[in-house]
Amino acid sequence: MALSTAPGRLEVICGPMFAGKTTALIARLSAARAAGLEAVALKPALDTRYAHAAITTHTGERLPALAAACAGEVMNLLGDAGVGGVVGIDEAHFFGAALVAPVRALLLRGARVIVAGVERDHRGAPFEPFPALLVEADEVVKLHAVCARCGGLAVHSQRMFASNERVAVGGAGDYEARCRRCFEPPAD
Ligand SMILES: [Zn+2]
Repeated sequence: MALSTAPGRLEVICGPMFAGKTTALIARLSAARAAGLEAVALKPALDTRYAHAAITTHTGERLPALAAACAGEVMNLLGDAGVGGVVGIDEAHFFGAALVAPVRALLLRGARVIVAGVERDHRGAPFEPFPALLVEADEVVKLHAVCARCGGLAVHSQRMFASNERVAVGGAGDYEARCRRCFEPPAD
């Protein structure tokens, strides 16, 4: 494995759905590329809402990305990419707690790692890998959405369909951003 002398840096961009996390991630990766740095984007392969090999926003922005079926694939997919450069990981909550190990490995390689995703699950509980990544982070950006009920600051992703699955892919119509007061956690 190639090594860099750069100290790793972890940036976490989190918040509910529709908060602009992917837009913020794309902006950071694009700025790094414009500055001449190697910047690689990676996303979970199960998130196939809009495209296979791109990270995309609800508003149509997109950036080419590697797609990993699970967190165990991340290091193999990246190879030497991101050594001393920048690695952006979108929709990190789909990878679960298993993403913490490859993120730490990338940091040890000297990479600047930018992780975006939802830090609260549909019940409002901490959503792995964010508890561990928020402790590890050098910079945390918490974005808010607009509550679909009252227009207040939304921190929750209200699931609009019945499912006990913690990971359930959805887009506009499947989830609503909700503030703390308007959030209705599932009863079960
Ligand atoms: Zn509200």
